[in-house]
Amino acid sequence: MSHDTLFGKIIRREIPATIVYEDEEVLGFKDIAPQAPVHVLFIPKHEAIPTLDDVQPEQAHLIGKLAMAAADYARREGFAQDGYRIVMNCREHAGQTVFHIHLHLLAGAPLGHFGT
Ligand code: ADP
Repeated sequence: MSHDTLFGKIIRREIPATIVYEDEEVLGFKDIAPQAPVHVLFIPKHEAIPTLDDVQPEQAHLIGKLAMAAADYARREGFAQDGYRIVMNCREHAGQTVFHIHLHLLAGAPLGHFGT
């Protein structure tokens, strides 16, 4: 499947990114505009799905893969016990700007409440 978003270019190493996690299906890299001391994005490498709303039942395992990659990274980096947040923004009202599904991992300090 083609990757014609910014994140597709990162997967193909066409633009630079600080890659901190990679396995068979998932790539993790530092967010360019971090919202917390740790801010990493986890994306599927082989499926360019625009939003969470576009995930098909046969692709549902990918969401688990993204979450498990974030959890693995948190354990490896030593902040799993302190805690962290994962977020997926879907479309306009959530402020989604890159239409290749991605899971945000935020950590490294107590995080404020959010919603509005
Ligand atoms: P938002 O932009 O409102 O956070 P998204 O959930 O779509 O919405 O998140 C896209 C994320 O991608 C943003 O946090 C943004 O900082 C990040 N980003 C954009 N360009 C790059 C890049 N070249 N490398 C790393 N992260 C990027």
